[in-house]
Amino acid sequence: MLAAETDILRGKLKEVFGYSQFRGTQEAIIQNILNKHNTFVIMPTGAGKSLCYQLPSLVADGLAVVISPLIALMKNQVDQMNAFGINAQFLNSTLSKSEITRVKKECLNGSIKLLYVAPESLTKPENVDFLKKVDIAFVAVDEAHCISEWGHDFRPEYRRIKEIIAQIGNLPIIALTATATPKVQLDIQKNLNMEGANLFKSSFNRTNLFYEVRQKRHAKKQLIQFLKGHKGKCGIIYCLSRKKVEEIAEMLNVNGFNAAPYHAGLEPGIREKNQDGFLNEDIDIVVATIAFGMGIDKPDVRFVVHYDVPKSLEGYYQETGRAGRDGLEGHCLMFYSHNDINKLEKFNKDKPVQERENSRVLLQEMSFYAESPVCRRKQLLHYFGEEYMQDNCGGCDNCVNPKDKYEGKDYVHKAIDAALQTGERFGLNHLVHVLRGVNNQYTKSYSHDKLQIFGKGDNEDEEFWKSVIRQTLIYEYLEKDIENIGVLKVSERGRAFLDNPVSVMLAKDHEYTTGEEEDEIVERAPINAKAYDEELFTLLKAFRKKLAHQLDLPPYVLFQDPSLEEMATTYPTTEEELSQINGVGVGKVAKFGKEFIGLIKEYVEENDIVTASKVVVKSSVNKSKMKIFIIQQIDRKIDLDEIAESKGITFEALLDEIENICYSGTRLNLDYYIDEILDPEKQDDIFEYFLNAESDSIDEALDDEDNEDYSEEELRLMRIKFMSEYAN
Ligand code: ADP
Ligand code: MG
Ligand code: ZN
Repeated sequence: MLAAETDILRGKLKEVFGYSQFRGTQEAIIQNILNKHNTFVIMPTGAGKSLCYQLPSLVADGLAVVISPLIALMKNQVDQMNAFGINAQFLNSTLSKSEITRVKKECLNGSIKLLYVAPESLTKPENVDFLKKVDIAFVAVDEAHCISEWGHDFRPEYRRIKEIIAQIGNLPIIALTATATPKVQLDIQKNLNMEGANLFKSSFNRTNLFYEVRQKRHAKKQLIQFLKGHKGKCGIIYCLSRKKVEEIAEMLNVNGFNAAPYHAGLEPGIREKNQDGFLNEDIDIVVATIAFGMGIDKPDVRFVVHYDVPKSLEGYYQETGRAGRDGLEGHCLMFYSHNDINKLEKFNKDKPVQERENSRVLLQEMSFYAESPVCRRKQLLHYFGEEYMQDNCGGCDNCVNPKDKYEGKDYVHKAIDAALQTGERFGLNHLVHVLRGVNNQYTKSYSHDKLQIFGKGDNEDEEFWKSVIRQTLIYEYLEKDIENIGVLKVSERGRAFLDNPVSVMLAKDHEYTTGEEEDEIVERAPINAKAYDEELFTLLKAFRKKLAHQLDLPPYVLFQDPSLEEMATTYPTTEEELSQINGVGVGKVAKFGKEFIGLIKEYVEENDIVTASKVVVKSSVNKSKMKIFIIQQIDRKIDLDEIAESKGITFEALLDEIENICYSGTRLNLDYYIDEILDPEKQDDIFEYFLNAESDSIDEALDDEDNEDYSEEELRLMRIKFMSEYAN
């Protein structure tokens, strides 16, 4: 058929899809495939690749076969197309016999425009035979990076696509992917036998995203701190395991964030609910494994956090790519620890050798990225074969807080010399050994110890040289050999440098230590004696006494000793921090907080103390649900016996719970219950006792002869009333 007229394509774009303009190179791509040229499309996620095969299928003679790896994605697209009024169908293992018969019939009579096929179905002989009879315009291979075992999402069935297409006929192919390093790109083209294809590659630069890597240390605290700075905004937090997903989601909820988990192990109903909640803005934060995000097109995701290190830069780029789709702010934060890399390597240990080696290379790139002092954007783009020319992108941690630079001209020169003199056939480690003059079996067996460059860099250590060579690569004086993984060659720019060396400013890598990656969340136990600052404790105690005297209250009503001990341990200097102390609720903060904070502040300043925790990670106590239930029931004035019964606990145990609630600073009004069992005079009587008592001990109260008419239960109830009214 003739080259499609521009007008026809634009007409269809508007009429069927409702868009008034093509994005980027969509139109040229569509023309190209309609002209039966092989077409290779590399475009970031969300750029609009699907349209590049959907639209031409409407104007071409014959249908388009679309090969796509995920049945869920396939179904999504088919539903979308059907909603546009286009007859699209899929052929995969989820169909019944009669459905298959129907789909096949519609293919043969020409009513289907798009036929989605899973690679597994494509390889079935009966399907191949069938497709031979169908009038096919072209084949689209979506997520084409799955073909390459050098990429991050290899699927063996994808490797058979070419052979099967060849059996069906001589058909033009359009391959599409959002991630392809130069190596993967070449691999895809070779595999699909389309080296001559026209390549349409868009820039991968996401100018509105801010990239940041932090050492994974006290990660939960760091996370909370980060999220406090993004309160009310939407974001995704990626974790490696389902267990971690649930743990973090719960931790965030306990700390006052609106978060929900998402992973493949959750029931479909819950998954759907959480996903919809996120899309509808009922949920701010989704904590997820990488199962979340495919096909999700939420424009206003303001941050993406990698709580654990991703398995590859491809994955990292895709996941961070979900931030800021609307072109506005998108903060991408990754917590990095070499321990995470080790963990991931262990997961790989059961894989076949080649696969394991590939995964290892991907992981290594990941750690280079994290540890490198070079602009993150430059690194990412370089990884995907694109050169970023600006010196300072202003949108990454390494540009905003640059490390000290040093003149690297001589080092770069040596690195290039080392690659050249060894014949451009070796990888990073070997070059480092040559530079440092290491005598090992390799340097010897290749006689590299005889080279002029051998040992010329022995003043510097191994890590230094690795860092130099990686930077020399990113600045493109050296380049990766696409054919031989790991091998470094000298680039055009590197050769020019040797003729005319120029200044190259380098920096040292980040030095991340391991250990204390995560905060152990422990329920706060009473603090051991003397673990606290005794001097401050004494001051606090004296102050409490003075204040209590002024207020005409017993000291323990203000704060109990364990609370003072905790203050003398964590040095709270804000109301918020003070309210995190056991036994201190908002009521107490409001009543007595100012004075105590003032005292602690003064003490901290005088003694130059670095406060222990700027952020406190509240624990998610299993009992918290029970507590909330009890508070709610008391609010509704439900009979205490009834509450105990409905929770299947004894009255005693209920009283314990209520006391816990009360002593951690929540004000409870039990009048409705107490008024039933104690007349007003008796209540006043007991109140009087607590007001004058030395301590709030129930045993002491029971021993006191004034109280001989009262039961333990009554005394405890009155103590709760007393504490609620005076202390909370
Ligand atoms: P990709 O496969 O590249 O990740 P999609 O094909 O899923 O991206 O498209 C992403 C979004 O962009 C979809 O919502 C799609 O409808 C929209 N889109 C595609 N082309 C255009 C266009 N020309 N104008 C406006 N929106 C478009
Ligand atoms: Mg797509
Ligand atoms: Zn930068």
